[in-house]
Amino acid sequence: MQKMENVRQLVSQGTKRLKAAGVPEADYDARQLLFACTGLTEASFLADPGRTVSADQQEQYLNMLALREKRIPLQHILGKAWFYGREFFVSGDVLIPRPDTEILVEEALRVIRPGDSVLDVCTGSGCILLTLACEQKLQAALGTDISAKALEMAEKNRRHLQQDIQAESLAFARGDLLEPAAGRRFDVIVSNPPYICSGVIADLDPEVRDHDPRLALDGGEDGLDFYRQIAGGAGEHLVPGGSIFLEIGYDQAEAVKRILRHASFTDIAVIRDYGGNDRVVRGVYGRS
Ligand code: GLN
Repeated sequence: MQKMENVRQLVSQGTKRLKAAGVPEADYDARQLLFACTGLTEASFLADPGRTVSADQQEQYLNMLALREKRIPLQHILGKAWFYGREFFVSGDVLIPRPDTEILVEEALRVIRPGDSVLDVCTGSGCILLTLACEQKLQAALGTDISAKALEMAEKNRRHLQQDIQAESLAFARGDLLEPAAGRRFDVIVSNPPYICSGVIADLDPEVRDHDPRLALDGGEDGLDFYRQIAGGAGEHLVPGGSIFLEIGYDQAEAVKRILRHASFTDIAVIRDYGGNDRVVRGVYGRS
C-alpha cells in the first residue's frame, strides 16, 4: 500500500523526479499529469494543496511520471495537445502541434477571407487546417499527408471539432505533398513541412528525436527539400494573387525566401515568433 501524500507533496516529488531525468519543464509537467489523473485544475490545486487523492489516482500518477521520466512527451502520455485554444488528439503517428505553429495560423488568418479555399500540405494532426476552418468560414479546405495513420488522427480531430468547423467542405487526402490537389486551385496554401536537416536529428531532444515521426521532421540534407518541392508546384494550385505561408526553422528564412522568389512569388516577407526567431515566410503568387 502506497503512503498517501497530499497533492502538493505529489507534485513536488514528481517535479524532483522529472528534473533528475532532465525533463525541461518538470514542475509544469508534474502538475499536468496529476491534473489528468485526478480531474483537479490549477485553481482547485492551489485552493487546497493539502488534499489527498484516491489510491488509484495516486498510482496512476506515479505510472505516468515513470513514462515522463523516460522522456515520453507529455502530450503522448495525455494523448492530446492544445493548439490555438483547442484540444487535438495526438499519437506517435503525428507531429505534436507546436505553439510556434500558431504564428503561421495567425498570419494566414490576416489574409484569409470568408469564402476562401485553403490547402494544407503535410497536415499531420490537421491542427493548422482544422484551426483555420474553425476560425474562418472557408468555402473549401483540403489537407494532404503521405501518412495514412496521420490522416486517421486528422479525421479523429475533425470529428472532435465538428461543432466549431465553419468550412463548407473539408477533406483530408493521402498523397505526396501537392499530389492530392491535382487540378485544383486555392486562395491560400499553408504548410509546416518537415524541415530539420537529416544530420541534426540525432542531436534533438529525446522527446522529438524518439517520439515525433521521423517522416514529419526530416527535411533532407539541407532541410529544404520540401520547400523546393512545395514552392515549385504551388503555382499550379494557387489562384493568381493567392498566398502561401510556410513555417520555417529559425535559420532558414533567407533560403526559403530565395526558393519562393525563384518560384515566381512576390511580396515575400518573414514573420518572427514570440521568441524573436524567424518562423514563417509568406509570399503572393504571380503579382508584382
Ligand atoms: N501540419 C502539422 C503541424 O504543423 C504537421 C507538420 C509535420 O508533420 N511536419 O503540426
